[in-house]
Amino acid sequence: MQILNYINGELLAPKSGNFLDNYEPATGKVYGTIPDSDSEDIDLAVQAAKNAFPNWANCGNETRAEWLFKIAEGIQKHFQEFAAAESRDNGKPITLAQKVDIPRAISNFEFYAKAITQYHSSSHSMEGKAINYTLRQAMGVVGCISPWNLPLYLFSWKIAPALAAGNTVVAKPSEITPATALLLSKVCIEIGLPPGVLNIVHGSGGSTGTAIVSHPNIKAISFTGGTATGEKIASIAAPKFKKLSLELGGKNPNIIFADCDYEKMLTTTVLSSFSNQGQICLCGSRIFVERSIYEKFKKDFVDRVSLLVPGDPSDSATKMGAVVSKSHMEKILSYIEIAKNEGGTILTGGKQRFVGGRCENGWFVEPTVIEGLSYDCRTNQEEIFGPVVTIMPFDTEEEVLKFANSTRYGLAAILWTNNLLRTNRLAELLECGILWVNCWLVRDLRTPFGGVKDSGVGREGGFEALDFFTEPKNVCIYFGNN
Ligand code: NAD
Repeated sequence: MQILNYINGELLAPKSGNFLDNYEPATGKVYGTIPDSDSEDIDLAVQAAKNAFPNWANCGNETRAEWLFKIAEGIQKHFQEFAAAESRDNGKPITLAQKVDIPRAISNFEFYAKAITQYHSSSHSMEGKAINYTLRQAMGVVGCISPWNLPLYLFSWKIAPALAAGNTVVAKPSEITPATALLLSKVCIEIGLPPGVLNIVHGSGGSTGTAIVSHPNIKAISFTGGTATGEKIASIAAPKFKKLSLELGGKNPNIIFADCDYEKMLTTTVLSSFSNQGQICLCGSRIFVERSIYEKFKKDFVDRVSLLVPGDPSDSATKMGAVVSKSHMEKILSYIEIAKNEGGTILTGGKQRFVGGRCENGWFVEPTVIEGLSYDCRTNQEEIFGPVVTIMPFDTEEEVLKFANSTRYGLAAILWTNNLLRTNRLAELLECGILWVNCWLVRDLRTPFGGVKDSGVGREGGFEALDFFTEPKNVCIYFGNN
């Protein structure tokens, strides 16, 4: 599979002619190449986007909405091809790509097609004297950069609102998972999206990503990825006064009180710990359990997790696939060693898993549960982003709040309790942007999505994303007597 850039409506090789290898995580083998694009390719994409901007910004909300619906239909038409590509490229189980990734990418385009027709701005009356109204105008060319864990899901989560608001886009998927972005390019060609409206440029973060972030004609950057990358991007973009949305790392607490609905909690906690091999920024990797049910939870949880056996992602019976890359697998395994050195006990998992057949050289890690660590050790403070969770008992609400809020991150939190007053108290005090109570990953696309502390700046979702991708301009009309 040779990936190409999508610039000005055409599939193009990078100007330099350089390509990177693309690996299949389940086999550990190269199965394609991707452009190693540099600033020359970004210049070309930005110029195409600039040329396309006036018509796109002025064609009207209804017309842009129709185009977004056409993109959604195009993905739907090739649904199985998209799901198979996402699974192969990322290592995630095919059923997950079919149930979550691709349906959500379709929903993202449909949601913003509808949202832009409902988007409104404010007016402020100065009684008897003047009226202010606020225009929300498209910004021009914007940049969207996304990570590998939910490739098309997160890529489209940025592109859809950016386009809906009337901007033209230069977007870069992760170089580790470029396949569905190519399929999206092909859908745009198939439906005849005007050239230059969306441009997809592939390549590494250091080269292609930096060229997007530093380009003088790109007005805003919407980025999802690691906190360290977010820091680098902010250091380049902030002095150029670009608008920035940064969705970064996490180390989410999962807090379990004895008064919860136990069975529902147990089933959901297996999912919130290990879905997508634990590579979802919203997974709960630090599990705090009220002491009175700790021993029971430990046994039941470990029993359930032991049934999760990594296997070939292309097999529809597989619930746990490969992790995304060799280096990521090595990072995860190194954290398991750190946990052992910090005094942790591995209750289940803890090793690379060797899956036979075509996957004999693939990158699989056993789902791992660790106990016996303090809340403030490295294992419990640093993002691992793999199938590794720790479990810890707690005695009081105050104590678990201290544990939960102790990291530099503040993306999501999960709370299991049937005590309404406690829920309200903790909802106010937990340091996070998203709190799930008695559930996990229940998503309403209208709600603000993002984190506090080192988990990011700004919010995606709903009208928040349309606010981000537009510039407000206040118009004051005076009609008073003097
Ligand atoms: P990453 O930061 O390494 O890469 C993300 C994207 O940024 C990729 O496209 C990469 O090529 C690009 N990039 C890398 N260096 C760059 C640079 N200097 N300039 C511009 N672009 C650059 O992250 P990753 O490993 O792909 O993804 C995993 C991380 O993403 C985890 O930390 C996870 O928590 C985070 N994440 C956060 C959210 C959220 O919503 N907050 C969602 C998913 C993933």
